[in-house]
Amino acid sequence: MRHPVDSLGWEMINRKWPHFASDPRSIRLGLATDGFNPFKDLSSKYRPKQPGNDIDVYLASLINDLILLWSDVVEMYDAVAKSTFNLKDILMWTIHGFPAYKNVSGWPVKGKIACPICREHTCSVWLSHCRKLSYMGHRRFLALSHPFRVKRSWFDGHIENGIRPKIKTGEEDSSEVDKIYLMAQVMFDLQTLLIRHNLDVMHVEKNICESIINTLLNVKGKSKDGINCRKDLEAMNIRHDLHPESRGNKFYLLAAPHTLSKAEKQMFCKRLATLRLPDGYGSNIANCISVEEFKIVGLKAHDCHLLMQQLLSVALRRLLPKGPRNSIFKLCSFFNEICQGVVDRNKVEILEEDVSETLCMLERYFLPSFFDIIVYLTIHIGREVRLCGPIQYRWMYPFERYMKVLKGYVMNHARPKGCIAERYIVEENVMFCSKYIKQASAIGSKTASNEEYESDFLVAGRPISKGKPLVLSD
Ligand SMILES: [Zn+2]
Repeated sequence: MRHPVDSLGWEMINRKWPHFASDPRSIRLGLATDGFNPFKDLSSKYRPKQPGNDIDVYLASLINDLILLWSDVVEMYDAVAKSTFNLKDILMWTIHGFPAYKNVSGWPVKGKIACPICREHTCSVWLSHCRKLSYMGHRRFLALSHPFRVKRSWFDGHIENGIRPKIKTGEEDSSEVDKIYLMAQVMFDLQTLLIRHNLDVMHVEKNICESIINTLLNVKGKSKDGINCRKDLEAMNIRHDLHPESRGNKFYLLAAPHTLSKAEKQMFCKRLATLRLPDGYGSNIANCISVEEFKIVGLKAHDCHLLMQQLLSVALRRLLPKGPRNSIFKLCSFFNEICQGVVDRNKVEILEEDVSETLCMLERYFLPSFFDIIVYLTIHIGREVRLCGPIQYRWMYPFERYMKVLKGYVMNHARPKGCIAERYIVEENVMFCSKYIKQASAIGSKTASNEEYESDFLVAGRPISKGKPLVLSD
């Protein structure tokens, strides 16, 4: 699969509405929702209020338009064929970050049943000391004969006999909660769409990457390990070797499998800070790293993407004990393979099997507090790829980037909306006019930063640092 057109979801629409699919002029839409602060870095005091659940008000008019387009009444003129035709559209799926998932789908993405896919079968445990829910139970997704299922002491002290939750499809998929599709019911037969809302892999990757790094470096306040997490282990009566030891009026925490020593932390930070990467590969991660304090702060979503895809597996080499290290490597390789531009449907099924095992391995080495809902969602990413095609057409990156463009338009802080509207129109006009001006340079296209070195025959790179002489022996 290299495009949603190769996916089962697309095929399903073709089968259900052959008339719609036969006309190449029919439009298939994806709806992205995202919020942004037009005032760049100003404090949250000045941040405009996000609509939250009131987004329905904005959606209502959009849905009216969609319904109008679906109902065969919109006549368009085809300039090539020189005839009129009925323009039709379909809303294939929506794309949004996890908090917005709630506003658009109507499913509460917090609490015991936070997973919008497993729904009431979500497996959650309340951690009374950390005061939050932990979502584990990944062993349910393993084959019934898998050895992990009978390992009591590695996991929650029980033998796992549960089976993977059945994912509801079609009308049983509680159409009463799904607001957007409820409003658009006239338009769709709900059974037809395999996936209505996408999990956003960008946010999933970012959250998991931050959780792993903060836990490994034991960053105060952000680490998923600490006295409360250990007390929860005691309360759950599992992993006895990690229980906090009371010494006088202080507690002593023994090293967990994922704990890095001071020297190892320094090595990890140093490796990331001194990495030399090709031009245009990503932003300079070294700026976010403080080698002395063992801290990595201010990583952007794309930095986390790079870390998860490639860099983390390099930086962690020979650092942790073999078990936890391999589980992190396997998770990274899952994200790498699932995010490829071209994916094989059969291979995705194998990846799905593998990732449930990987998550079980993480469950074995990390503490229950590590498993927030975002980590839990990883198990469903494979399924969405199988049904809807490559991830690069269904994640938030393009929209988040465009938000930055729009943010740049705001010059008058008193009138952000006006600024955006005005500048957008002006840019469009200028772009239109420039097409009629001879020798006008293209607007909005950037030149590569190393262009002066390139010729037709030879593409030479610029050295990124002073070279070090190295004498090779025989
Ligand atoms: Zn789930």
